[in-house]
Amino acid sequence: MKKNKNQKDMKMKTFLLVCGIFVLLSCQAKESIRIYAYPASIYDDARCSVYQDFQTDLTFTFHYVGGKITDLRSGGTKFFVELPEELKLLEASLMDGWKKPNEHYTSFPVSPAERDGRKYLRYELPVPKSVLQPALTKPLPGGMFGGTTNNLVVLMVKPDKPMPENSKVYWETVGQYPYQGEFSIYPVKLPEGKLPKTRIALQSQTHLPNLGYSDSAIKEQIRLFRKLNISAVNAQMPSGPNQGRKELWKSAGFSFYGGGSLMHVFWSDGKDEDSTGKAEERDYLAGLDGLRSKGVDRRAYHMRTFCPQAMITPGRYPYRKLIRLGREAAEAGSMFLDIDIEADLCIMCYCPECLNAFFRFSKLPPEKLEPEQLVRKYPEQWYRFRSEQTRLLYQALRNELKGDYPGIQIGANTVLHRFGEDFGNLKYGICEFAEDPRLMKESLDFIMADTLVGGLYDAVSVDALALSSSLPVIAIPGSSYCVGYSHANFAGRRQTAEMTGDTYGYGQRYEYHKLGMLHLAANGASALRYNIDEACVAKATAEALLILSNVEDFYLDGKRADDQIGVTDLTRGASRWQLDSSRVRGGIWKHYYDSYCGKVQSRTHQLNGEYLTGLYNWDPFQTKKWHLSMKKLPQGKWYLTDTVSNTRFTVGGREQWSSEELEKGFAVSIPKASCRLLRLSRKPLPCHGTEDLKCEAADKPVYNQYAWRQNKQLDIGKFMAEKLKRPLDLIRRYGGGKNKDQNRKVEK
Ligand SMILES: [Zn+2]
Repeated sequence: MKKNKNQKDMKMKTFLLVCGIFVLLSCQAKESIRIYAYPASIYDDARCSVYQDFQTDLTFTFHYVGGKITDLRSGGTKFFVELPEELKLLEASLMDGWKKPNEHYTSFPVSPAERDGRKYLRYELPVPKSVLQPALTKPLPGGMFGGTTNNLVVLMVKPDKPMPENSKVYWETVGQYPYQGEFSIYPVKLPEGKLPKTRIALQSQTHLPNLGYSDSAIKEQIRLFRKLNISAVNAQMPSGPNQGRKELWKSAGFSFYGGGSLMHVFWSDGKDEDSTGKAEERDYLAGLDGLRSKGVDRRAYHMRTFCPQAMITPGRYPYRKLIRLGREAAEAGSMFLDIDIEADLCIMCYCPECLNAFFRFSKLPPEKLEPEQLVRKYPEQWYRFRSEQTRLLYQALRNELKGDYPGIQIGANTVLHRFGEDFGNLKYGICEFAEDPRLMKESLDFIMADTLVGGLYDAVSVDALALSSSLPVIAIPGSSYCVGYSHANFAGRRQTAEMTGDTYGYGQRYEYHKLGMLHLAANGASALRYNIDEACVAKATAEALLILSNVEDFYLDGKRADDQIGVTDLTRGASRWQLDSSRVRGGIWKHYYDSYCGKVQSRTHQLNGEYLTGLYNWDPFQTKKWHLSMKKLPQGKWYLTDTVSNTRFTVGGREQWSSEELEKGFAVSIPKASCRLLRLSRKPLPCHGTEDLKCEAADKPVYNQYAWRQNKQLDIGKFMAEKLKRPLDLIRRYGGGKNKDQNRKVEK
């Protein structure tokens, strides 16, 4: 009996299991939607900031599960958002596919609601017709991108009375595709009055050109950007629905940056012709397989098509294309043309013209070698030659544009890697692309530091760039690892978190942004560029500007005096950061903090006989105690003021320090995710308060923040052998015999 019952149970269990799997499968196959709200999606606790006195954008991106949804509206789906009564909905902008017509709305069906015992308003919002971007089916690695989305709704909201410290936004879809969520918001007030204009320029991105913002929405953004002393914004796409909006920015006194389209100079559009004629056979690159790229699966050469030598030879099709794209960008108003071509080191080009140019440039006797053998035999020469081809590309652009567009500045979007080692006489690493900033000489006006990691890494990276090149550096504070913060990337990261249960750790965004701005400026950035996509970033900006205006002369006119300062770490106990398992803060940022001696970060400048020492604590959890000893100071009395907290440090109750006392030193605390900028002056500086410090020597050795410098030569042979791997793999997969066009053999 018992056995029988067990068998019955087993059968029943199997039946239920099969039913369960069937239900699960049919659930998965059924279409449904996911919606993510930005900037709340940045945060693990979905708590984001809104402006008290400016307009805040809240972006909702739509994703599908199971199958694309081509008509969300026909299923009767409606989208509602409930806002606390103090927060008024001014406008909603709808994007329904890339470069599709878009709409903005200023009136909405609205009904009263109550939440958490408070008055709310429930707005009915437009929904995109199509949902074409899938939700992820597996987690993203690290902090990676997470896809774009072009089906979204942006709400522009603004309080009409003081906002309480904590409120929530509730939203839901009803109908065929129900989904809902909520997030917390807190108000941010920017400092009153006019902010000081800094010499270190700020540049920022305007609204996505494909969204049809109203004039009033753009004017509100202009009001914010003027408040923050942003001087340049991205040029508006002439073809996008925001066409003509450039005038709004221009009349408000902004200049423009651009050049994004130049990323495509090496790419084919399939037709390879324009009003000036068409590409010839010899304009196509010859790859590592010795074959021309014409007609090949574009993936074989990582979407690159044209020969760099053709690109720098006047009259040739690729040259004309380069100049045409450059002129278009200049015509659109861009005065800062930063070019992100990511010219590959090994994909191109091994055509007879490039090989001739290579042997000439390298002063080597010409010899017959297969492309791969050539790179392996002359890795350093090939590296330098490919950078030279890119330098000549910038040079060509300068020659063509400078006359017609006086004042236009041409920059390369580039960065150094592996900066612990040196490459010949070039210090601080190597460039992963054929655009080594140290080899660009006078062909560029600036470098756009393509760091994009966030945390301490960006500051160390900009330091390496500034120390190894004399070109001005535009730097990017506040990155989320691999990319900036954006609604598209964060939808992917939240989907990942839902699958893995992980956190990302962006909770210190405001603190890190302010710290990043100040540290990047001290490490050599002459301008800063980033998106003001959240109120807390604007607050960080305003506060950093107030500080920068007092100290930037040291960076721009002074000289570095790091060797006059010794800093010793006296912090006791381990940081809670050790236990942080969040993917970016506890993973990536912590990794670079450890790799690049983040424990003590300082920077000292000297100007007109006075000194400025920055002490940067990137630890998000622990206040540090650092001991400072200042050597070889001129004799006499000094005032010591922290320009971040506006505190004057006294010694044993005395206002002035002697040089002997400063050499013996003192310990000072650096709050977590923050910095001190200590100014050593002969005259007292204005301050809000004083703190008394003790003059005492440190009982531990001075910390070496450059201990990661290995003082050895990078193995260029090994480096180039690594760089060959991917292009060879692409050719194996997509190139050569797989192509039907057999007529591509390069004429020798
Ligand atoms: Zn070539």
